[in-house]
Amino acid sequence: MRDYLGHMSQDEVPWDMETIRDIRIRLLAFFDSAKRPLPWREEPEPYRILVSEVMSQQTRLDTVVPYYRKWLERFPDLESLSRATEEEVLALWQGLGYYSRARNLLKAAREAVAEYGGALPRDPEGLQRLPGVGPYTAGAVASIAFGAAVPAVDGNVRRVLSRLTATPEPRPATLRSWAQALVDPQRPGDFNQALMELGSQQCTPRSPACDSCALLAFCSAGPAGTPEEYPRARAPSPVLHLKEAVPILVRFLEDQGPSLWMRRRPDEGLLAGMWEFPGVRVERKKEVRSAALTEATRLVAGAWTLSPPNGAVLDPVTHVFSHLKITYHPVLFLLVREVETETAGEDRERRQGSRHEGSWMSAERVEEHPIPVAQQKLMALALERAAG
Ligand code: SF4
Repeated sequence: MRDYLGHMSQDEVPWDMETIRDIRIRLLAFFDSAKRPLPWREEPEPYRILVSEVMSQQTRLDTVVPYYRKWLERFPDLESLSRATEEEVLALWQGLGYYSRARNLLKAAREAVAEYGGALPRDPEGLQRLPGVGPYTAGAVASIAFGAAVPAVDGNVRRVLSRLTATPEPRPATLRSWAQALVDPQRPGDFNQALMELGSQQCTPRSPACDSCALLAFCSAGPAGTPEEYPRARAPSPVLHLKEAVPILVRFLEDQGPSLWMRRRPDEGLLAGMWEFPGVRVERKKEVRSAALTEATRLVAGAWTLSPPNGAVLDPVTHVFSHLKITYHPVLFLLVREVETETAGEDRERRQGSRHEGSWMSAERVEEHPIPVAQQKLMALALERAAG
């Protein structure tokens, strides 16, 4: 049934059984001929599917594949992952972004070992009780790894269903009930992957390939020439833009390479538990040098001489997070001479004893720690300048 604008009612499943059967046949044939050879498809074991699904959230598949291989080499099963430290897990994840996914994967593995004898629950409800597993991931794992006839609605599936039915703003519950009606009970995992694959290969956000689409005969928006009107774009939320002055302290000790002063972020919030340079928030770019100098002076507390005295301002690095953008303005200070006094020594020990304040990190061994991408860029800039 359609409303006065011609939009499909969201309260009912818009296809009869015969149409649903045809859609399944067409879509599975498309999948059999067009599916990409992804490593987790070779061996769709539950843990592997969970890892691939968590990694694929908000990340392109060609980026995910090398991370997935590296992860499986290091943590081949739930048991080995459950024994890892958070630091190890974050270090392996670095570069993929959205680090809470890695922390949740670790917690889920520990919970699976402690509560479920080292296996994942088989049903979507049980899966959703694991940290970081929402309805989509639970549906994907249950259908692909355990053959449960349940839906898995991600952004690709939302777009395809919205266009098939010409529904501009389908509700999440509606999408789930439509996807549940469509899912093939014989091959639920393949069917769900087929819908996602169609969304990423054919029914793309811009210029979808309707002429060669397996579902053209069942689609409302495609033949009408209006697919890009569906689903209606959500108003983008405003992005906050912050600036940080980042003093980068580099010291050279005899017979050693450079080391850098870094601190560990708190256990909660953005980039939790990762390592960074000690940035301070500034309102304007012209405050960068003095803010960095104040912070650098506080950190070395008279134990070292800074060179150059006011620091060398390097090129800024901007990183966009999901909800905010931060421009980091690095200022390099080389520590050239130690004037060790008892008080300064004690001060330094005290600061190094504080988990969030910081410590010296050898540039050679820095990769053993989880460091966000933007901070890695700052480090590369600083080390290049320090060597030059
Ligand atoms: S016909 Fe076009 S709009 Fe409809 S599902 Fe296929 S690609 Fe998407």
